Order: sequence, then C-alpha cells, then structure tokens
Amino acid sequence: MAKSRIYQPELECMNPEERKKLQGERLRKTVALVYENVPLYKERMDAKGVKPEDIQTVEDIKLLPFTEKTDLRDTFPFGLLATSKDNIVRIQGSSGTTGKPIVSGYTENDVQVWADMVARAMAAIGAGKDDIVQVCYGYGLFTGGLGAHQGAEEVGAMVVPMSSGNTQRQIMMMQELGSTVLCCTPSYAAYLGESIRDAGLIPKKDIKLKAGLFGAEPWTEGMRQHIEELLGIDACDIYGLTEIAGPGVAFECLEKNGAHINEDHVIAEIIEPVTCEQLPYGESGELVFTTITKTGMPLLRYRTHDICKLYPEVCKCGRTTVRMGRITGRTDDMIIIRGVNVFPSQIETVLVKTKGVEPHYQLIVDRIHNADTLEVKVEMTEEVFALPDSTSEIQKLQKYITEQIKSVVGIQTQVSITAPKSLPRSEGKAKRVIDNRKL
Ligand code: ADP
Ligand code: ZN
Repeated sequence: MAKSRIYQPELECMNPEERKKLQGERLRKTVALVYENVPLYKERMDAKGVKPEDIQTVEDIKLLPFTEKTDLRDTFPFGLLATSKDNIVRIQGSSGTTGKPIVSGYTENDVQVWADMVARAMAAIGAGKDDIVQVCYGYGLFTGGLGAHQGAEEVGAMVVPMSSGNTQRQIMMMQELGSTVLCCTPSYAAYLGESIRDAGLIPKKDIKLKAGLFGAEPWTEGMRQHIEELLGIDACDIYGLTEIAGPGVAFECLEKNGAHINEDHVIAEIIEPVTCEQLPYGESGELVFTTITKTGMPLLRYRTHDICKLYPEVCKCGRTTVRMGRITGRTDDMIIIRGVNVFPSQIETVLVKTKGVEPHYQLIVDRIHNADTLEVKVEMTEEVFALPDSTSEIQKLQKYITEQIKSVVGIQTQVSITAPKSLPRSEGKAKRVIDNRKL
C-alpha cells in the first residue's frame, strides 16, 4: 500500500494557532459578504443586534445566527446566493434522504475549493498519478459522483466514472482496467465485496483494489473490517454534505482514527442540540459548520443534525486539523422506541460482530396496540443457509442477537433472520429504517 501522502502540507499541517488566525480573517470576510448580499443573514444578524464588525476572531462565531436545512428550502433555489447568478458555474443538490431536495450554487472558486478538499482525501489514502479510481457514487445532482471525480482528477489519477448500479459491469471493469481505488457508499462496497467473493474472484490477484474512500452514510468500525477483509483494501471514511460542498469536508488518513476536517475552508463546532450551546472538544453533540472560503452560497453555522465528537489532538500522520469521530446518528434519524433513543449504528455494531449474519439489515418500526415495536431484519450468511440443520442455527442466532441488542440498546426487539440476498440492495445510500408509525 502506498504511504499516506499530504496534498497541501502548508495548510493541512499548519500550526493550529496560525490556522485559528487564518480562520478568523476568513470568517470576517465571509460575514461581511453575507451581511451585504444575503437578506436572510442581514435580517438574522440585525435581529440579534450583531454587526459584521463584532466578528473579529473564531471565538466570536458564537454571536452568529444558525442556518437550518429549512432555510435552504424556504429560499429555494437561489435565495441564499451571496453573488449574482451569472457567477455560478454549477448546481448540485441533496439526495433528499430527509425530505424535499435542496440545491447549492458553486462559483468557479467553490468548485476548486471542493476539488482540493477531495484531492486531500485521495492523497491521504495514497492515491496519485499511478492510480485508477473507480467512482461508483451516482453522478448527477448528488455530490458523490462528481465530487470524487474532481478529487481524483486533481491528484492526476485515471478516473473511471462508472456512476452507481450494474454490479456485474462494475466488477468486469474493475477487473479489466485494474482499478486500484474504489469510491462508493460503504453499504455498496460491502455488497460489491460479497459479489466479488461469490463470483470466485480473489482480491489482490483478480482484483487490484488497494484502498477506498467510503462515505455519504453512517458506518461502523465493524463494517470497515468487513469491507477491508472482503476486498483486501484499506477502507477510509469520507464525510461531507451538499450544503457545505459535498464529500471531502472531512476525510480519514491511513491512521483511521477519525476524519480530518478541512479547517482552512470550514469552521466546525459541536453544539448541544436543544440549548444550542457550544460544547468543548471530546463531547458528543450536533456538528455545525461555517464555510469560510465559499463565495457562491456561504453558510453561517449550518446545523448538520449529525451527531459526533471532535478531537483536537495532532494525528500521527502529521496533519494538525481537528478530527471528527464517526457519525453515531442524526438527530432526525434517531428512532424513539418506547421512550428509548435508538440509533441504527448501535444495531449495526451488534450485527457486524455476529458470525452467521451479513451486515445487510433493515429496521422496521411500528406501533401495535399503542406500543412501539422494532423488528430487526438481517440476512443469514450462505454458510448458515446451507446447513442441514439451519432451523436450529437460525433460532440460536435470533436469540443471541436479541440478547445482544437488549444489552447494548436496552430494548426488546424482534429479530428476523432472512435468506441471503433477500433484503433490498442499495446502490447509493442504504435505507435502514422504515418507520410505519408515521404513515
Ligand atoms: P441528504 O442525505 O440529506 O439528502 P447529502 O447527500 O448532502 O444530503 O448527505 C449529507 C449527509 O449524509 C450528512 O449530513 C450525513 O448525515 C451523511 N453522511 C455523509 N457522509 C457521511 C459519513 N462519512 N458518515 C456518516 N454520515 C455521512
Ligand atoms: Zn491523520
């Protein structure tokens, strides 16, 4: 495996105090820009009695108003632009996993900033000129495809813009071209890996992949191991959202201990989601971003609703940027079962550790006689399926998983073990939760 490389060392390995100064300067410029050009921000700042000159350092960020996804919907499509429409060279949109779509406008500068952020992620997994990067994120309004594409081109790799879908063709191209880097959602990477295994192909021999950048949906350490074993690669996390740029806002290096946030382009905060108070490093809360280099649609204190922790300790790789831990849930993804907060990631952690099932699962929530119910559907492996006494093995598995979930999450669930490949496969983001209570 190629060594972790640093794409822009002067920025990624900057002295943290100097970086703070840079962030302060860029924040001042951004605040002046949006106050002048975006009516929503002028109104919100005026309502709080905050003037652009009140913002001098990064610490002053606390004075600024928040931005919510609903603000993007209410001003759809161009109401939050800080520049005239003719300076916008690209529109991307959210995949709409949580409701109506929203769009973001990019200037030439913003497209370059985004490409640089993804290039850092590519370099961090060792991708460069000699690599062949197969992008199986969807191309289109969704930021995954074009985002990964630009980053791979930026480091000089050969890009294979497959887009999502058609697994057999993905595998054929991967084999014929000798793709070395894979970019897709972690759930699709697992599916690809299983399909490669089932086709009798051998990683490192028939398949030349060495590393992958996986993101756009939450995943766990257990899922990382599963993918790494199946494909014989280093699997690293890449995080982002359309509102801020797209994938690449943060990325993991080969140390695999949290995603480096591109802090010269964004300021990250963690807040308590109800009181909105800023929380110190190390505490879990809602991630909030302020863009400080965007010129098309800069956002102040954008509430991601993603829950995680921030770690300021300098990483072994030499980068000095703050790292974010895995997203443990979204405030709006949390399921409340009989008053208990449950995140899909907690259940995934149990499932990936259980021998005999594959980490393909669905959580079905319902309300029966006024009581919430949670059914966990998970697929058994081909080996269990092929056992002559599979019924007793399935019963054992059911009992074991029910107990494990009970001890981790604290609630009783109904576990259903389904046949291999019986649950729907996603080529993009996996839909894990089906909540029938809302219907
Ligand atoms: P949406 O899914 O809301 O339609 P996006 O396609 O922009 O919009 O997705 C952004 C969201 O996807 C993030 O806010 C986060 O919830 C999720 N996400 C993206 N990358 C990751 C990642 N590496 N780990 C966990 N969640 C991620
Ligand atoms: Zn690192």
